[in-house]
Amino acid sequence: MLRACGAGVGPQLLRAALGLGAWPGPERAASGTRGQGWLQPAGHDTGVKVYNSLTRRKDPLIVGSADAASWYSCGPTVYDHAHLGHACSYVRFDIIRRILTRVFGCNIIMVMGITDVDDKIIKRAGEMNVSPASLANLYEENFKQDMAALKVLPPTVYLRVTENIPHIISFIEGIIANGHAYSTAQGNVYFDLRSRGDRYGKLVGAVPSPAAEPVDSDKRHPSDFALWKAAKPREVFWASPWGNGRPGWHIECSTISSLVFGSRLDIHSGGIDLAFPHHENEIAQCEAFHQCRQWGNYFLHSGHLHVKGKEEKMSKSLKNYITVKDFLKTFSPDVFRLFCMRSSYRSAVDYSDGTMLEAKHLLLAAAAFIEDARAYMKGQLVCGPVGEGLLWERLRHTREAVKAALADDFDTPAAVDAVMDLIHRGNGQLQARTKEPSGPRSPAVFGSIVSYIEHFFETVGISLADRQFVPGDGSQAALHSVVEELVRFRLKVRQFALASGKATGEAQRQQRLDRQPLLEACDALRQDLTAHGISIKDRSSTSTWELLGQDRRPGS
Ligand SMILES: [Zn+2]
Repeated sequence: MLRACGAGVGPQLLRAALGLGAWPGPERAASGTRGQGWLQPAGHDTGVKVYNSLTRRKDPLIVGSADAASWYSCGPTVYDHAHLGHACSYVRFDIIRRILTRVFGCNIIMVMGITDVDDKIIKRAGEMNVSPASLANLYEENFKQDMAALKVLPPTVYLRVTENIPHIISFIEGIIANGHAYSTAQGNVYFDLRSRGDRYGKLVGAVPSPAAEPVDSDKRHPSDFALWKAAKPREVFWASPWGNGRPGWHIECSTISSLVFGSRLDIHSGGIDLAFPHHENEIAQCEAFHQCRQWGNYFLHSGHLHVKGKEEKMSKSLKNYITVKDFLKTFSPDVFRLFCMRSSYRSAVDYSDGTMLEAKHLLLAAAAFIEDARAYMKGQLVCGPVGEGLLWERLRHTREAVKAALADDFDTPAAVDAVMDLIHRGNGQLQARTKEPSGPRSPAVFGSIVSYIEHFFETVGISLADRQFVPGDGSQAALHSVVEELVRFRLKVRQFALASGKATGEAQRQQRLDRQPLLEACDALRQDLTAHGISIKDRSSTSTWELLGQDRRPGS
């Protein structure tokens, strides 16, 4: 486990302790102080201007390196099915990620934290009489399935909170050592907000007054927030220097992001409801731990999905949500994606069947045009002479307009409008149909337009050719969870078999001998499961598993 050693506990120490080298890319260097003390980072200018919640204006997006832009995304708390409100945020950021990668040439490393222990998970697991770990596992798989069904690219790596408890404890120790947190007699650890002075509140400006604290609160100040929560009776817990307990919510993201990216993070994303207190607290924790002036350089926030005609956002607590699975029974993921693109990712957007149908009709219109243009190219659709010069000019103009729109804070509505305008003009040229071919033909310009439009939609993850989606029946997810349970059980048995405990000498030898059959059974299970295409790997303190591809299975 990592130990903090006085002031200045920094990312290099964390990385070194985790066996990682120095983070590549240019050192953070301020090229000038702008706005509210925000430091414009040094590095690679992507050519995109992005609305940065830290400055509340559009800033040039400068990442550490075009080969390794770092992006942290807050992930789900896995206690229930994902609904369309969550999906909207993830799809919008997926579109942005694809644009940055494919239009502006950034290689993005995306890390997503999964909150798999939390009050809601514990409560729901209690109601269902299953362990919090099983419940979290079930809904994590569900989440991943929903994201795959919506064609959201997975992050480069998912990190689960429960698999990073030692790192979280070390991170808290670092903050305490740097003088920004304190532990209490009750076994809680709180962030000392007053120690941050006026540096707290970078994101939201004025800090909202805290909710009333219970009289038995052991905080020094009502605004202080928990980094470590002492275990309550019958709750899942981990041992720590402050007694048994579990991490607070905000500390998870700070630790997981720092674990991979150290003290510099290019992009941080999440729904606007996470800005306060979650992201504000992430910033406070990271800058206190790394002893740096600026940890995350760009905070991107997506707007809420509203239920049409109501002021309220779609949420579980308001019970006004539509699950991703239910939505996909009626509409395709491509329709949802286009619906998301027709508003700025930052704006609140109304959900209704009508707005979905509009998106569907636009997709159908694009597909119909492509079909007609192909028919024209093949000589099946015959029309009079087309204004070829005009079309070439429109195509060039559209390319420029789309790129300019995307570079302006990912203005997808303007980009879609430009493409639909091109389609409209292309259609106009194909309307003058005649029975007999006459005059010169212009297949090249239509080929070029078709190719461009298909490329545009493919860039943002929309397929014009395949707009049908058949949802799965869920049995895959169930099987996945069963294997997960089995591997976790095996891990416990194996750790018990390998533990030496307090025994020494002859007693230890006898103990090993007694437990040998358990180890053999674990090995046999691992071996036998390969026949079913499941490969278990025993790592230093855990076991992982993966499905083997057909060609890697024994006997194939
Ligand atoms: Zn987070």
